[in-house]
Parts: sequence; C-alpha cells; structure tokens
Amino acid sequence: MKQLVILSGKGGTGKTSLAAAFAHLAQDGSAPIRAVLADADVDAANLALVLHPERLETHDFTGGSVAVIDAPRCQGCGICEQVCRFDAIDSDAGVYVVDPIACDGCAACVYQCPEDAIHMQPQTAGRWYRSESRYGPLFHADLFPAQENSGKLVTLVKQNARLLALDTDSQVVIVDGPPGIGCPVIAAAAGADLAVIVTEPTVAGVHDLRRILQTTAHFRIPALVVVNKADIYPQGAAEIEAICAEQGIGLIGQIPFDPTVTEAMLNGEPVTAYRAEAPSSQALAAIWQNVAARLA
Ligand code: SF4
Ligand code: SF4
Repeated sequence: MKQLVILSGKGGTGKTSLAAAFAHLAQDGSAPIRAVLADADVDAANLALVLHPERLETHDFTGGSVAVIDAPRCQGCGICEQVCRFDAIDSDAGVYVVDPIACDGCAACVYQCPEDAIHMQPQTAGRWYRSESRYGPLFHADLFPAQENSGKLVTLVKQNARLLALDTDSQVVIVDGPPGIGCPVIAAAAGADLAVIVTEPTVAGVHDLRRILQTTAHFRIPALVVVNKADIYPQGAAEIEAICAEQGIGLIGQIPFDPTVTEAMLNGEPVTAYRAEAPSSQALAAIWQNVAARLA
C-alpha cells in the first residue's frame, strides 16, 4: 500500500480538484486501483464538498488543555495572573477566571497556585469523520476556529485512512494535503511514498514551489510537479520548468486554464467525471497515468 500526498506551496492552486480527479481516475477504467482518501487540510477541508460522501462516523478530536480555576478553593492571591505569560487570567472584583481562548495550555499557573485551585481540562478542538464517497472511503476533519494542534488532527486522519487501507487491501491512500510548509503539511507528508506538488505560473507560485520543494527534499519524499493554469503566464510556466530541470524533479503535466473545472466543482463532481473530454480532464488523465505508474 502506497501513500500519495498532494501538496501546494499556497492555497487556491487547484490541489483539491487534482485530488478529486485522482480519486475518480483511480477507480475508473479497465484496471481500477483501490484507494482510500484522506483530506488532511483540516483547517479548510473541502474534498467532501466535491465528493459528497455519506458520513458514517463522527468522532471528537481532543486537542490541548486549558486551565480552569476552582472558585471555592481560590484565595484570590493573584499569583496565577502574574505567572501567566499569555494574559489569559483576569480578576473581576477578586474573582479570578481563565480566558480559554487566550490560554496556551502551558500549565504554569497550575504549578504556581498555592491553593491547588487550578486544573487543566482537555478541550474538544474539532471532529473527524469517516465517510463513504463514490470513489472510496474518505477520512476528513474540521478543526474548530481558534484551535491549535492541526498537525495532530492531520496525523489522526491519516492514521485512520491508512489502517482502513491496510484492512481492505487497498493499493493507495490519496492524501489531499494542506497548503504551505508548516506543521500540518509536514504531518500530511510524513511517510508519503510520493508527493505531487501543484503550482501555478505566477510569481508567488514560483516562490512557494521552491519552498515546498525544500520541504519534500528535507524529508526525502520523491516529488513531482504539476502546473495548473499553465497557459495564463507562459513565462512563469517556463520558469517552473527550469526549476524542475535544475533540481531533477519530474514535471509531469501542465493543466490549461479551463472554466470546466469550476463548473464541475459547482456541480459536485471531479472535472474528469463531469466532462472527460474537457482539456483539463485530458491533462489530468495523462498526469494520473504517470502517477499511477510510479506508485505501481
Ligand atoms: S494562584 Fe490559585 S489561589 Fe491564587 S488567585 Fe490564582 S487560582 Fe486563586
Ligand atoms: S495554562 Fe498557561 S496560558 Fe493557560 S492560564 Fe495557565 S499560565 Fe496562562
């Protein structure tokens, strides 16, 4: 069983469209590949919006903990307010309370309270789901606003996808990764056999491509590059081609700008399922053939 992760240096490059198309193409044709899908973009999960899966399971995700003051034990000494570096503790007429949004969960106040009046309480920081889509099982999640630990939630989503893939003899886990190069991206890419990086031929796209290539190189994950909307700025596409050549990275496809992609999204379909003859679908089919051959 192989893990394929789809990444991009920044959001809005078409990563989810690519993931949805791969999910469709994997089970299409004469030699279908059994895939389990994981949407690791837990801050803005939208693969489910395209695939319209049926939700089978919902689980709470416990993130960090926040401090809670036990009012009857508190003697109002104010030590906790002084030690909190995050200004999360305040008093109102001698009553000390913790602002759960500001609390970083460091527990310094717990150790310093002379009355043992503060404890740490785990917080439900989000939810994760197991769903069934037309193109296979999908694991996805929602991190609640202002919550941290997205890397931990990404790992949880991936672990469950991987376990199901092993249980069902699936050949590939397709992970739709988060944008950027931060902790959730590293969590999404960890253990991947192959990364497909989607970029756009813009100045920002070229800059972000360099950064994400550094990340995949650092973690020794083989990477391939796809240029989306390649025809909107040919000079940028040529620059991406040069970067790939210079770094020995395979540039496996250039998808033309195609309004059908948005039309398909609005209709809740991967573009390859919505209109197979569209220019973008043709390009995506060729890209998938290349990716599938490398995963075999
Ligand atoms: S340190 Fe403890 S006793 Fe003092 S104000 Fe804070 S909670 Fe109350
Ligand atoms: S746990 Fe840390 S951040 Fe939270 S209230 Fe206590 S000292 Fe402040």
